[in-house]
Amino acid sequence: AETDSPPHVAILPSPGMGHLIPLVELAKRLVHRHNLSITFIMPTDGSPSKAQRSVLGSLPNTIQSVFLPPVNLSDLPGDAKIETLISLTVARSLPSLRDVFTSLVASGTRVVALVVDLFGTDAFDIAREFKVSPYIFYPAPAMALSLFFYLPKLDEMVSCEYRDMPEPVEIPGCLPIPGGMMLDPTQDRKNDAYKWLLYHSKRYRLAEGVMVNSFIELEKGALKALHEAEPGKPPVYPVGPLINMDPNTSGVEGSECLKWLHDQPLGSVLYVSFGSGGTLSYDQIIELALGLEMSEQRFLWVVRSPNDKVANATYFSVDNHKDPFDFLPKGFLDRTRGRGLVVPSWAPQAQVLSHGSTGGFLTHCGWNSTLESVVNGVPLIVWPLYAEQKMNAWMLTKDIKVALRPKASENGLIQREEIANVVRGLMEGEEGKSVRNRMKDLKDLAAEVLSEDGSSTKALSEVAHKWKNQKCCS
Ligand code: UDP
Repeated sequence: AETDSPPHVAILPSPGMGHLIPLVELAKRLVHRHNLSITFIMPTDGSPSKAQRSVLGSLPNTIQSVFLPPVNLSDLPGDAKIETLISLTVARSLPSLRDVFTSLVASGTRVVALVVDLFGTDAFDIAREFKVSPYIFYPAPAMALSLFFYLPKLDEMVSCEYRDMPEPVEIPGCLPIPGGMMLDPTQDRKNDAYKWLLYHSKRYRLAEGVMVNSFIELEKGALKALHEAEPGKPPVYPVGPLINMDPNTSGVEGSECLKWLHDQPLGSVLYVSFGSGGTLSYDQIIELALGLEMSEQRFLWVVRSPNDKVANATYFSVDNHKDPFDFLPKGFLDRTRGRGLVVPSWAPQAQVLSHGSTGGFLTHCGWNSTLESVVNGVPLIVWPLYAEQKMNAWMLTKDIKVALRPKASENGLIQREEIANVVRGLMEGEEGKSVRNRMKDLKDLAAEVLSEDGSSTKALSEVAHKWKNQKCCS
């Protein structure tokens, strides 16, 4: 009976909508093109968010999901970083993950692979127990993946903080980058977040393969370096851009802003959003509002309540409590009425970016947001906040050249005049034209790699075939 059941893949996303969204897209492709069936196994430290439930609830029944019992993180210090929280959420979920595997196997399910993302490598121990192939889906750029593989060496070579290095860091295959712009957890080597990062980066070698959400034409150098064989390094498969395309998964709350977009001229609207977790300080919200107003351009802005402590304040849960409109400058909504639309907390981004009225995207540079913009040919203004976003912003402006970047002033704030200039520059200026054209080229290339015999389609087929030809675990 074993061979009758379709090969089954378990996917373990780490907490955060930005991780779940591309994995859902991956799952859909595996089901539709390769006849695999899927179980999402969701570790969590609380009850599932509305957004998670609506995304998972809308899937076909070949894609099941199981929420693991929430782990307790109350022993952690209040300033524990997100990488630590994610890693421990996964580590403490291993007993319940084992239970799920036990019952999958007991019910005759032929589990052929376990796919984890960024910081999920602890789950490989369970995969090994059940003789299931461990794989990684890397939801960030190939540049960051190249740094992951390079990090154990860099850690040995360098004794100071990376941000204090006199020379830029030479990540294999990438434009050298100032140490201070590398991912957040590399910025304080004494912090647990760095220890976790280093720990996972060493365990990446335990994977039988790593899929990365990128494509050759977007990150040629990094992917070439990743393809170079090295003892112990698993094969890397560029399978992207896998992005959220399903109109149903964004919830219904956004219909108002789509209606508004319909009434705007072609390519005239700047979409402004900081991802699922990004928050600005109170002072920075004021500057951004007044800058958008001064630019005299049309805009659609997803506003969140300010936070002066951490930039990713709503990352674990996007359900926002305070009314963000209370924090906008006095009279702002009236003065920009008609020309600008402000929506609280969450917008149907996939539809906004694919809408003809959208002509630019001011983004925190989350990798999903970046890829969604690439797929739709929408040029960027980069405003990085956390995680690997500073690296992304660096690459998008200096290397791929599809983005403009406003500069912060000495007090660390990006001032209204600067914002207005860059926004005008993108929407109307010469500098906007060149990044727009480059983005159009990338849009075509992205469509190509995902076509029937495009490179990303082939790379995913290769992985799927390996899985299907695997002997069973039980
Ligand atoms: N997103 C959305 N509406 C919002 C904010 C985010 O639909 O108002 C989606 C967005 O389309 C993307 C994901 O959430 O797919 C955010 O992922 P990203 O990697 O850009 O940033 P993160 O939230 O992980 O920092």
